[in-house]
Amino acid sequence: MGSVGAKEVPELLNAEGRRIDGRRLDELRPISIKIAPLTRADGSAFVEWGENKVMAAVYGPREVHPRHLMETDKAIVQCRYNMAAFSVDERKRPGLDRRSQEISKVITEAFESVIFTEEFPKTSIDIYIEVLQANAGTRCAGLVAASLALADAGIPMADLVPAVAVGKVAGRIALDLKKEEDNFGEADLPMALVPQSGRLVLLQMEGHLNRGELREALDLGVTGCREIYRKMREALRARYEAAGGAEEAEAAA
Ligand code: UDP
Repeated sequence: MGSVGAKEVPELLNAEGRRIDGRRLDELRPISIKIAPLTRADGSAFVEWGENKVMAAVYGPREVHPRHLMETDKAIVQCRYNMAAFSVDERKRPGLDRRSQEISKVITEAFESVIFTEEFPKTSIDIYIEVLQANAGTRCAGLVAASLALADAGIPMADLVPAVAVGKVAGRIALDLKKEEDNFGEADLPMALVPQSGRLVLLQMEGHLNRGELREALDLGVTGCREIYRKMREALRARYEAAGGAEEAEAAA
């Protein structure tokens, strides 16, 4: 442990190149996905990603509220990201703070660019993201969960949207930061990818990277997103094979 002022700084990278939780620089935290855990939503997904636990629910296309937001030629996308008061160590003040509003906005914009909104004029597609437990990277976990919930709701989209944060930790570019790395690292760069086109639909950055580091971070993030994409597709496939199997069994009975 080193120290900066009064703050104890943990050793973020050891001599063997292992991170605080034993991961290599290019390794993701474990991800597990449950599709359709909520029966009342049109689509839902629960994602456990490291110590993050995030639920997403999708409703729609449905009537627009408030009505003045209605668009005559397309659906509107409304997304609300919320972090539960009990999701972090120090109790967070409940409700939509500026950070949650900003995250809701960037996630909305990411989905507006992949959902075929013109197929559902005068309607709203509502996405709720609830962070139940947070350990850095929750906007990315939220995007992944929401993307799966949209797929579960049958909303037509260009592609799923995997997301991950890359950062700089002890001078090195690292994939999928956890809380200590986010707090004490030198940079944090969340991103979301449309895998089929290679387009980034979310890219934010906090901290400092030089041009070479930025390129390395983008490459690592895109590789990470492709790995997450495979897990997302696997989870959806498993869910629909199971559902198909149950239907077949019912039809045969
Ligand atoms: N966090 C917190 N209290 C807050 C906001 C964030 O403890 O009011 C923690 C939480 O673990 C979160 C992390 O700080 O995941 C990093 O937050 P950031 O704003 O970078 O967003 P995220 O990485 O979750 O997308």
